[in-house]
Amino acid sequence: MLRENIPVRDGLQWKIDAMLDRIEWAKAGEAYYYQQAISEIDGAWVVTNGQRKLMFATYSYLGLLEHPKIKQAAQEAIVKYGTGTHGVRLLGGTLDIHLQLEETIARFHNRDAAIVFSSGYVTNLATISTLVGKGDWVISDKWNHASIVDGCVLARGKFVRFRHNDMEDLERRLQQAPPDAGKLVVADAVFSMDGDIFPLPEAVELCRRYNARLMIDEAHSLGVLGETGRGIEEYYGMEGVIDVKMGTLSKTIPAVGGYIAGDEDLILYLKHAARGFVFSAALPPPVTAACIAGFEVIETEGVERNHVLRRNVEHFLTGLKERGFDTGVSVTPIVPIMTYDDDRAMQMTRYCQEHGVFVLPVLPPAVPHGTSRLRANVTAAHTIEDIDFALDVFEAAGKEAGVI
Ligand SMILES: *Cc1c(COP(=O)(O)O)cnc(C)c1O
Repeated sequence: MLRENIPVRDGLQWKIDAMLDRIEWAKAGEAYYYQQAISEIDGAWVVTNGQRKLMFATYSYLGLLEHPKIKQAAQEAIVKYGTGTHGVRLLGGTLDIHLQLEETIARFHNRDAAIVFSSGYVTNLATISTLVGKGDWVISDKWNHASIVDGCVLARGKFVRFRHNDMEDLERRLQQAPPDAGKLVVADAVFSMDGDIFPLPEAVELCRRYNARLMIDEAHSLGVLGETGRGIEEYYGMEGVIDVKMGTLSKTIPAVGGYIAGDEDLILYLKHAARGFVFSAALPPPVTAACIAGFEVIETEGVERNHVLRRNVEHFLTGLKERGFDTGVSVTPIVPIMTYDDDRAMQMTRYCQEHGVFVLPVLPPAVPHGTSRLRANVTAAHTIEDIDFALDVFEAAGKEAGVI
């Protein structure tokens, strides 16, 4: 709304209006499914507006959202500690379970120590902007998550990007940096819009050669990559090569929060210097307890659930390709169903949502212009019958929209 005391359309208003126009466009096409409220959860199924839908827009890769042990841990923590804390971790906010969670994360990733933040977004923002100071360089993959990009923008050092997964381009950037400059190379382990994997062995070699530290975001690989779900290092059989190991507590771990695991010095430094930690309140007790239980569940059930997940990914990707869909470079549970065109993505979304599949489109600016898609996430909670049902719906939707 234009406020009366601002008679002209200034830059602020122009931005608001531009976004409202796009929302209007989506609503006019009856394809606005963002922020749709879910009223019930039942395994891989959800209820929205009284309609049961099979969930394909979820990050709960191992299907732990309703795990009884995790729910129980959260309930017990509320009874014992209440719902909040005395404030920031550095002052009165630290509970014994916060330390226990950090020890659990360190053990899980076989590192000295860990620090938890209030979200994955804040973890990247705070860690990158704290580590990379004046005179330092941060070198970031072009497809990295927005929270990494924002951390790089906030950092006082020089921010440069290399072409996605292109190790020759990464080497050129490393050569451009002054030899004595501090260097941080940062990338997603599994890329969140396309589902491909970072070439860790080559990157590690380059980082060693050019004396750079390596930070990897395991948001979509925790519980997913490697036999026991430990992430990208286990996937490549290269334990301990990542200097700054970042993860979220909101995807495979069914809660909220983010963390860095690393060596003792790094973690102690971040616990006193990272503004997103020092000036923001501690994780609530039920969340903290749920996270501890979540890691324990991966330690006991991870192999089995990961096996089901891999079978499902295989079945889903093969089924989509057989039906003529373009799934880009995906080899993980993140599966883009490429439409390239915005309207076709909206049309497919509407068909799927009306026929019992909860899936959402990804449009610019989240992805480059001309690369719009549906992003479907397959999880360990899906059965083969669920996936077959979804494949039929996607096929009908793709035909109606002229995608296949
Ligand atoms: C989701 C995500 C984050 C942010 O995590 P939140 O816990 O949702 O704040 C960071 N990095 C990547 C790659 C992500 O996909």
